Amino acid sequence: LIAFLLYLFYLVMPIGQLIQGGVQLQQGLAAMKRIKEIEDLPAEPVGAAPAGSDEPVGVTFDDVVFRYGDDRPVVHDGVSFEVPPGGLTALVGPSGAGKSTVFALLERFYEHQAGLITIGGRDIRDWPLSELRSTLGYVEQDAPVLAGTLRENLLFAAQEATEDELNRAIARTRLDDLVARLPEGLDTAVGHRGVLLSGGERQRVAIARALLRKPRLLLLDEATSQLDAVNELRLREVIAEVAAETTVLVIAHRLSTVTNADRIVVMEGGGVRAVGTHAELVGADELYRELAATQFLVS
Ligand code: ATP
Repeated sequence: LIAFLLYLFYLVMPIGQLIQGGVQLQQGLAAMKRIKEIEDLPAEPVGAAPAGSDEPVGVTFDDVVFRYGDDRPVVHDGVSFEVPPGGLTALVGPSGAGKSTVFALLERFYEHQAGLITIGGRDIRDWPLSELRSTLGYVEQDAPVLAGTLRENLLFAAQEATEDELNRAIARTRLDDLVARLPEGLDTAVGHRGVLLSGGERQRVAIARALLRKPRLLLLDEATSQLDAVNELRLREVIAEVAAETTVLVIAHRLSTVTNADRIVVMEGGGVRAVGTHAELVGADELYRELAATQFLVS
């Protein structure tokens, strides 16, 4: 019986190896086919700016669903909107509408649970984080001035910037007047240990700091602090100028910003309720009309 079993074992084993070999061959062929399919795919989705370039990138949100945790309520419930490359797009809406969450998802501080987010035509999940972070610039609301000189503040995240690049960022953000006024120009200490800057100047310093990193998409959470007429006008000019060269997505708290925007996305309760220009929305959207009536200084 033992001899018979041994005989069976030797008979069956090669058949098993043969089957295994066949499976491996099939897997190999399938893998080759898949590689061929991948090779045949376009390297980047159509319309995408090439990686590593300075060209502005667009953004799409397609039916995006998001909550901050399993036991938390849904923040975004099927959010869809499109930001073409270049130009100024404003996000507006009452407090809690989900505007800051749009920024948090674009920076990939959180992952959305459903739907698709693209930057430069590419699924946000496919962006290497380091590449994504160098593509995006973020200017926070009421950005603090760091302890140190104005130069240090501007070069904080772009130590390798040239003097020319620094001067250009200063000119683009209308900070020349400030530099001329400061006793030691760019080398004057600012912040709580030095010359105090106004809310408008602080925001322009933050924009200049972000521009020195050459972002292809600038996320700007507009300062809520009241600005005097001169600073308000300067900020409007700066945003318009930056938007001529890169994509700017701004959480807007000011009417002067939205009236200039190429498009405005009106958010409410975790959804997008309307998209249009200021003139279009004033005529078509009741919530927008109300926001406009209160000058957007609502959140
Ligand atoms: P605001 O203008 O007041 O900043 P917003 O439109 O930017 O409002 P979000 O900050 O995106 O709105 O908040 C949307 C919802 O998500 C709110 O209900 C808020 O309480 C909730 N939320 C925001 N951040 C978190 C977080 N880190 N954890 C849990 N819930 C959060």
